[in-house]
Amino acid sequence: MNFKKNDILNLKIDDIGVNGEGIGHAEGMTFFVKDALPGDLIRAGVTKVKKTYAYARLIELIEESPDRVKPKCPVAKTCGGCQIQHLSYEKQLEFKERRVRENLIRIGGIDSPTMEPIVGMDDPWHFRNKEQFPIRKLKDGRIHAGFFASRTHSLVPVDECLLGKEINAKVTKCVLSFMDEHSIPPYDEREHSGVVRHVLIRCGFSTGEVMVCIVINADMLPHSDALVERLECCLGGESKGDDACNGENIEYKIKDISLNINKEKSNVILGRKQIQLYGEGYITDELKLQPEYYHGHMEGEPEAVSFQISPLSFYQVNPIQTQKLYSIACDYANLTGNEVVWDLYCGIGTISLFASSLAKEVYGIEIIPEAIEDAKRNARLNGIENAEFFVGKAEEIAPLIVSGDNSLYSGVERPDVVIVDPPRKGCDEKLLDAICTLSPDRVVYVSCDPATLARDVKYLCEHGFEFVKARAVDQFGHSTHVETVVQLVNIGVKPD
Ligand code: SAH
Repeated sequence: MNFKKNDILNLKIDDIGVNGEGIGHAEGMTFFVKDALPGDLIRAGVTKVKKTYAYARLIELIEESPDRVKPKCPVAKTCGGCQIQHLSYEKQLEFKERRVRENLIRIGGIDSPTMEPIVGMDDPWHFRNKEQFPIRKLKDGRIHAGFFASRTHSLVPVDECLLGKEINAKVTKCVLSFMDEHSIPPYDEREHSGVVRHVLIRCGFSTGEVMVCIVINADMLPHSDALVERLECCLGGESKGDDACNGENIEYKIKDISLNINKEKSNVILGRKQIQLYGEGYITDELKLQPEYYHGHMEGEPEAVSFQISPLSFYQVNPIQTQKLYSIACDYANLTGNEVVWDLYCGIGTISLFASSLAKEVYGIEIIPEAIEDAKRNARLNGIENAEFFVGKAEEIAPLIVSGDNSLYSGVERPDVVIVDPPRKGCDEKLLDAICTLSPDRVVYVSCDPATLARDVKYLCEHGFEFVKARAVDQFGHSTHVETVVQLVNIGVKPD
């Protein structure tokens, strides 16, 4: 049968796609259906037909999948944040682990990859330390905070996002009532007018420090003193612990309030200019090696590493899982205290600083100069002296170090272990070549995209390395994202 738009059919869903959509098959065609889950039998309406696949919408759930759960959040279906909140958390983890395994087999060419069990969250709610809420006026004439619906700029009002800390709802409420009281208009994208664009909130989970940054389409915010007073009054004396994630009773307190000036007609949330209203421009958080996930060399108890985070800094959004992820990365690096480690795509140096007490020397390379400034400052703050950082493209700097052509890098020692943590597009082939030439004993690949991970693992395996094992870590519950750590060992010949 040739399917066409508006056809209706019954479809058994048997798989789940990379964006969380249900996948079913009928008469040689593959159907992608948003909001459907494996195990569902549905009535589907065809919306778009291609040669071998088609899109359809869920008209009716004839038989519900046993893995279907009622989403906790009332706007789970409309808000763009959670794609699979209607799937039980246990099955979400199964799906993520399977996705990694299948990519390693299909793209990576590894027959039956050894995988340690996926690391899930103890509590998959309130795990984000950062949320940025667009502020807009809606048709009801009122100003709301919320999130944009998937691939649109239409605001879905959200009073309380269940992924962030409870305190976020208090902050947004406080900002909205301030705006009402002082008649401060929210940003209007179409007219490029109005003032308040976004409210960014960040919490230090280990310190309880809260940062609020108001992004404005203006040079200043009228009555900003009143906003500071209001936020202080609302959040200053917060004493109820709400830290379900790590079971600690944390008192959340406002530590930093700033304005960010963004007058561009652009989707980029933050501009470059910051105006400080309260505090010193940063909050502090701590990350600590987790002995449950790290089995190697360690002198004494693991010490926490402190990070100063500014509104513009990149920082992992799920610190509880990040500690586990980095602990696994250090575990897979097999450190004994004598190794030279290169941490490529190092961001603000979180992995480098984490690994520094377990290794002889760590070198971090990262493209964003501000992130390297943060990395250096955080190294000083923690009294870490065996970590050095360089700004630049990993794929350009690594070959320069190999060739010895640039005196800037003449002191850099060759790595025993290379850790890479690239963005979704994976590593540049020039970098993979440089790693092969450097021929470290081990490569630890930390990845946020299983497909490019598998592609790069294949390349390394064709050039002197062997895949040993992988472990997936869930950093983003209710989304389809998954992080993975892979260990590769050198089976080739080391250079002289
Ligand atoms: N390891 C860090 C950051 C990982 S995110 C952490 O865990 O926090 C990936 C990082 O790679 C980002 O900081 C990004 O700025 C950086 N990056 C992107 N392309 C790069 C390149 N070609 N060379 C070096 N760094 C790059």
